[in-house]
Amino acid sequence: MTTQGPADFAGQHLTVAGLGVSGISAARALAGLGAHVTVVDGGDGDKQRAAARELTAEGITVRLGDGDTLPEGTELVVTSPGWKPDSPLFAAAAAAGVDVVGDVEIAWRLRGPGAAAWLGITGTNGKTTTVRMLASILAAEGLRTLAVGNIGTPIIDVVLGQGKDGEPPYDVLAVELSSYQLHWAPSVRAHSAAVLNLAPDHLDWHGSMEAYAADKGRIYEGNTVACVYNAADKATEDLVREADVEEGCRAIGFTLGTPGPSQLGVVDGILVDRAFVENRQKQAQELAEVSDIAPGSGTPAPHNIANALAAAALARAFGVRPAAVRDGLRAFHPDAHRIQIVAERDGVTYIDDSKATNTHAAEASLAAYEHIVWIAGGLAKGATFDELVQKSAARLRGAVLIGADRALIREALARHAPDVPVVDLDRTDTGAMSEAVREAARLAEPGDTVLLAPACASMDMFVNYNKRGEAFAEAVGELTARDH
Ligand code: ADP
Repeated sequence: MTTQGPADFAGQHLTVAGLGVSGISAARALAGLGAHVTVVDGGDGDKQRAAARELTAEGITVRLGDGDTLPEGTELVVTSPGWKPDSPLFAAAAAAGVDVVGDVEIAWRLRGPGAAAWLGITGTNGKTTTVRMLASILAAEGLRTLAVGNIGTPIIDVVLGQGKDGEPPYDVLAVELSSYQLHWAPSVRAHSAAVLNLAPDHLDWHGSMEAYAADKGRIYEGNTVACVYNAADKATEDLVREADVEEGCRAIGFTLGTPGPSQLGVVDGILVDRAFVENRQKQAQELAEVSDIAPGSGTPAPHNIANALAAAALARAFGVRPAAVRDGLRAFHPDAHRIQIVAERDGVTYIDDSKATNTHAAEASLAAYEHIVWIAGGLAKGATFDELVQKSAARLRGAVLIGADRALIREALARHAPDVPVVDLDRTDTGAMSEAVREAARLAEPGDTVLLAPACASMDMFVNYNKRGEAFAEAVGELTARDH
C-alpha cells in the first residue's frame, strides 16, 4: 500500500538520505506536512554543518558523519538521487522492512484528487531539451503547465504548490525523469511517456546496462494513452513491449524518416503526425516545419528534430492541436551550452555543446556538422571512444584535446582517424580553454565549425559543464585576427 495525500505524512518518522539540494527540499516539505524528519549524511564538512544548522532551527533532526545506519523508528526512507542502490543505509532499511523511495515518488503520493496529469520524459540524452519543448507546446495550447526536472522548482514543491495562493492548478506537467529517479519511484503512473534513447551511462550507479534500461523502462508502467519510443533505437521499443500499461494505451514511434502508421516523422522538411489522426493508414497531419524548431538558433541538429517529434507526440497524446505544436516549437529557446552558437568569426562558427558530457551526446552533436574542429576531453567516466571516433572521423578537420582523460580520445583518434591533426593540451589551468580555442581557430577553415562537445564530464577542470561552456565562450571572445 502506498500512502496517498499530504495528510498521511503527518506524524510519520521519515529519514531523508543526503543533505544536498533535493534532500533539503524534501526534508523541509515533509516537515511542513507534520512528519518527524531526520536527515542523514556521511559528510561532516563546513557546507553540511551550515545546512544542518538551518534545518535544525526549523525542527528537523540532522545527523552528520554517518550515512550508513538507519535511525531508530524510521518508517520510510526518502533518498536523494546520488545515493547508490547498494548503499549500506538501504540494506539496513531492507533488513528492517522499511521502504526506500525518492523525491519523485513522494511528489506522486502527494498529488491530491484531480491533480495535473504527468507527461514523462526520460532517455540518456535530450531530456531537459524535450521537456522544455513539450512545456512550450502545452503552453501554446493554452494549458497551465510547467517543465519539471533537474532545473527549477523541485518536484515536491511543484505538487505541494498546486492551486495555492489563489493560483489555478496546473492542467498538466511535463516531467523529466532520470534513471535514478525512476528507480526510486515505483508507483508513478504517467498519462503518457517517452524514452528518447538508450546508451550506456551511469552504469556504476545501476550496476549493469540491463538494470539501467529496466529503470528507464519504468516510465512506461501504467501509461494510459501513449508510450512514445524512438524508432531508430530498438532498445526503447523493446521497453514499450515489456511494459505493463493500461488497456488501450498505444505504442507511438518517432523517426527522422517518413513515418509509418502510429508514428510521427519528417517528410520534405515537415514534421508530420501519422498517429493521432482519424485514419492512420491513409492520413497524415502536418504539424510544423523543421525550421519552426527554435527559429533563432540556426538549423536544428538532427537530434533536436527527434526531440521535437517526441515532444509533439506527447502533446498530441494529450490532445493538443497541430497549430499549438508549431507555435510551441517556434517559441522554444534552447538552454545554454546545448548546441549554442557562440560566435561566427572569419567564416568559422563556434558552437558550445558543453552539455555533451557522454559519447552518445557528442556523437549526435558531431553528426550535425560537415567539417568540424572538435574540442573534447575531460573525465571519461569509464567510457571508450572508438565507436564515436569511427563514426565521426570523416567530419573531423582536426581535434584539440583537453582534460584528465584526453589520452583515451587521442588513442582512439590514432586508431581510427590517423590523418586528422590532433593538438594535445597538457595543461589544466584556467588558461587551458583559451589555448584550446586558439588552436582550434588555427586548424579551422572558412565554413568549418569549431565544436565544443567534450564527450566527458567537466569536473577535472571546471566546477560544472556550465563553467566549461562559459570558459569556451570567453575564449572565443578573446580570439584576435592573429589566431586565424
Ligand atoms: P539531458 O537532460 O538528458 O542531459 P539535454 O537536453 O540537457 O539532455 O541535452 C544534453 C546533451 O545531449 C546536449 O548537449 C546534446 O549534445 C545531446 N542531445 C540532446 N538531445 C539528444 C538526443 N535526442 N540524442 C542524442 N543526444 C542528444
